[in-house]
Amino acid sequence: MSNFLEDIIEKDLESGNVKTIKTRFPPEPNGYLHIGHAKSICLNYGLAKKYNGEFVLRFDDTNPLKEDTEYVNSIIDDVLWITGLKKEDLKIYYASDYFGIMHECAVSLIEKGLAYVCELSPEEIRKSRGTFEKKGTNSPHRNRSIKDNLKLFDEMKNAKNGFVLRAKIDMASPNMNMRDPIIYRVLKGEHHFRQGNKWQIYPMYDFAHPIEDAIEGITHSICTLEFEDHRPLYDWTLANVNTKAFKFRSRQFEFARLNLTRTIMSKRYLKSLVDEKKVEGWDDARMPTIAGLRRRGYTPNSIRNFCLSVGVAKANSEVDVRQLESFIRSELNATAHRAMTVIRPIEVEITNFDETHKRTLDFSYGLSIGLERPIEKEVSRKISFSKKIYIDESDFSLDPPEKYNRLVKGGFVRLKSAYIIKCTGYEKNPDGSIKKVFAEIVPDSLSGNDTSGVKAKGVIHWVDTKTAVDVKVRLYDYLLNDEEGDFLNKLNENSLEIVIAKAEKHLEKSKQGESFQFIREGYFVRDEKAKELVFNRVVALKDSFKS
Ligand code: ATP
Ligand code: MG
Repeated sequence: MSNFLEDIIEKDLESGNVKTIKTRFPPEPNGYLHIGHAKSICLNYGLAKKYNGEFVLRFDDTNPLKEDTEYVNSIIDDVLWITGLKKEDLKIYYASDYFGIMHECAVSLIEKGLAYVCELSPEEIRKSRGTFEKKGTNSPHRNRSIKDNLKLFDEMKNAKNGFVLRAKIDMASPNMNMRDPIIYRVLKGEHHFRQGNKWQIYPMYDFAHPIEDAIEGITHSICTLEFEDHRPLYDWTLANVNTKAFKFRSRQFEFARLNLTRTIMSKRYLKSLVDEKKVEGWDDARMPTIAGLRRRGYTPNSIRNFCLSVGVAKANSEVDVRQLESFIRSELNATAHRAMTVIRPIEVEITNFDETHKRTLDFSYGLSIGLERPIEKEVSRKISFSKKIYIDESDFSLDPPEKYNRLVKGGFVRLKSAYIIKCTGYEKNPDGSIKKVFAEIVPDSLSGNDTSGVKAKGVIHWVDTKTAVDVKVRLYDYLLNDEEGDFLNKLNENSLEIVIAKAEKHLEKSKQGESFQFIREGYFVRDEKAKELVFNRVVALKDSFKS
């Protein structure tokens, strides 16, 4: 099924209005990209690819006060990661490189009597703009001579005054954006990563954006719905400025932005979480940033598939964050090797362990338990087994709920890939928690060769105490609580729990960024940054919502 943008593009190609389509992703480098931006990248890049067109990354770096080189670099990394493009194949442009042309365009408007320097303060301009019901009032400077406007604009350029340049359109327009919008202002900040101190005046988004598009020959300038009311100004700008620098009369199209439950997608808010140290940084694995999702163990493929599944709509809506999770879950189900890790270990001593029992066992690491798609045929590695093992504290209960298939006093359970054991006793800590469990191996119950006749209802995972390695495991919850109300007050203070778990020795050989299914626990990725063995929980095994 094609979306409305594809329909538009196909018509343009058919009619010959457009020979080759060209799209852009135009971030302002004032923060890291988030999953909403991923949606825009996938859409723009996907359309260019589908119709054999071109795609460019363009920095909308028109406000030096908020922008930074760190953001520029992270954005390039993220776009390469999501699209799978190599750096040499990604065209990167900077709006600030067009400041000269934009200035020329502004001068051309003044010369046509279509722009004027206004001395009103921002507050006065806002007041005189009127409301939806009430027309705006003309600025006292609206009818200045062209000569005076050129002179004052030149003064603005050298920061000799603090005025603004406004487009002269219509203070009575029903569209507020057309009521003599500001197109240039004086800003005394350094443009750190590109222009230095060359410019003291900076263009406003509505003026700059269409010019950037037209210079690059962008055929379909795709943005989010909030800009629908700005489209007349976009068209006005391209229709009225004079320059030889344009390759194409670009057009703007709007689609609905991506919103996710339990997630906030505002760079300003995400930046405040970083600045106030509520998270460890922009790439904290709890953040909805692309860098955070990557750290969390998401793959570009899972994010692309998610964006495709969401589709392109004309009306805003909210997507359940669990839809995103389901894509990485099913991908890892099909690709991640299995391993045994005990997240909250208690010791089990096997009192009848003797020389008749095996010390090395075969563990199938390529098969899923109870999940539809095994990764590959049976592949296995040796794991060690001995008198003392760890099991998870939740797999032993003195007061089992109904249908509890794990270990209880006097009960049986199968140790995954090993023997069936029977619990014969336990020891408690002074606080009443379980310190240790005692058990016996059921004779002839070895997995794959079981002639014991004993039926164990459940299978639990375990690791051998002799060879187990300590791993740091980060368990995440959503950053935002599931409540109504202002997101500023919804920060979940318990979104991160760190535990020291006992893992199979094999995990020592894992690579940073490698993902595993810790059987019965979830999908985990070895942290990309930490040198030690740190694993981040990507997602639980099953959707908590459905179970
Ligand atoms: P924020 O509102 O989070 O600060 P922004 O829209 O100001 O983001 P830009 O750098 O201007 O950030 O965005 C670059 C591009 O990404 C724009 O074309 C914008 O429309 C698109 N975009 C931003 N957020 C979303 C979203 N949630 N869903 C889809 N596209 C988005
Ligand atoms: Mg923006």
